[in-house]
Amino acid sequence: LDRNPGQPEFHQAVKEVFESIEPALERKPEYLDAAILERVTEPDRQIMFRVPWVDDSGKVQVNRGFRIEFSSALGPYKGGLRFRENVNLSIIKFLGFEQIFKNSLTGLAMGGGKGGSDFDPHGRSDAEVMRFCQSFMTELYRHIGLNTDVPAGDIGVGGREIGYLFGQYKRITNRFDAGVLTGKGLDWGGSLARTEATGFGTVYFADRMLGTKNDSFDGKRVVVSGSGNVAIYAIAKAQELGATVVACSDSSGLVVDEKGIDVALLQSVKEQRRERISTYADERASATFTPAGKGGIWQIKADIALPCATQNELNLDDAKALIANGVQVVAEGANMPCTPEAFHAFQSAGVLYAPGKASNAGGVATSGLEMQQNAARESWTFEKTDAELHAIMDNIHDTCRATAEEYGHPGDYVVGANIAGFTKVADAMLDFGLV
Ligand code: NDP
Repeated sequence: LDRNPGQPEFHQAVKEVFESIEPALERKPEYLDAAILERVTEPDRQIMFRVPWVDDSGKVQVNRGFRIEFSSALGPYKGGLRFRENVNLSIIKFLGFEQIFKNSLTGLAMGGGKGGSDFDPHGRSDAEVMRFCQSFMTELYRHIGLNTDVPAGDIGVGGREIGYLFGQYKRITNRFDAGVLTGKGLDWGGSLARTEATGFGTVYFADRMLGTKNDSFDGKRVVVSGSGNVAIYAIAKAQELGATVVACSDSSGLVVDEKGIDVALLQSVKEQRRERISTYADERASATFTPAGKGGIWQIKADIALPCATQNELNLDDAKALIANGVQVVAEGANMPCTPEAFHAFQSAGVLYAPGKASNAGGVATSGLEMQQNAARESWTFEKTDAELHAIMDNIHDTCRATAEEYGHPGDYVVGANIAGFTKVADAMLDFGLV
């Protein structure tokens, strides 16, 4: 870690994995002999590049682009692109590192990578977003490919951005390589259920956790942070399973709606009109808005908490408040939303806690299914894709549980996810020799 100063999020992600895989290292000393830990924390390749573009006023803007190709032990690099002002090398490396083990858990042949830029689409016109995406892809295209590296969306990168990125890739290369990006539009190679997959998958995973206690979402009170791609579909699925989601948020504040979030209105506000969450409260009589900084979302009483916004959004004080209010399950839809102190508090209090690399793996898993459909030139039905997603989430859950048990930490999903994800990657690295 001394080799990577000033990368706190990356350090945090590495520590969490390394602390919990000790039982696997004791059982198989070859991992240490072959320096797997040193090798798996050093990306295969780190690409950083200039992204110049012209804004609507004619001013030249310069952003920084990233693509971290972390590990191709199990397949082509796979992981999203994040466009947000605070994006830096530490954040992209933590996300890329997590992605290695998440992708391993899906059981599909995908390596780990992540990318993005410190460009923020908020407040930018469609034309500005298009020009930025075209400039970004003008460099990125030479590094990616069907069997090399397959990016997707993440924070700030949805269907619109993937469209502009794919358009430019196709134009530069003169190839319709559908499988080079996932999260595509349904008319040009996208998969049904990909938009819903991360949110749905998080709820499928949490439901399976509840099942170990003969319980379910039915009748539960749920709080979901965020109101983006992951959050919206987690809310939709939780309510479909009989729960009431009483709160959600964005970076400007939170809304409480005791009648249950109206998903169609939330989609209209956030997906179609791209407005702030306060608009939801303006248009819904049962909802109230609280601006950011005036009371956090985790103070609200919930049986189930699904953090679906961003990293380190739920700290120890938040965890204590949730525990005092009787939370039973915390499943991460976002990547690393709980600080280490927070998730340790959940585990000590006997709360069922799922780390994102297990519970939010449904998004990348369905990207893997999108790649399968592209390769076969097929389009599956929503029901088929959703059923595959559900089966994958159940399998990840059961693998985490069985692995935790096998290594002497029953019920510890962090140990289970990290050991199950890590050992497959490490074993492949041993098979390949020193490369
Ligand atoms: P979106 O951009 O669609 O939505 C992000 C949501 O989180 C928005 O509501 C945003 O608010 C909110 N948010 C972002 N940063 C902050 C912050 N600092 N404080 C408060 N709220 C914030 O992204 P996604 O839904 O795709 O991603 C959410 C999380 O899920 C990320 O951690 C991502 O890495 C993870 N993830 C996503 C997957 C996917 O398939 N999309 C797959 C697996 C994980 P605002 O509108 O104000 O920006």
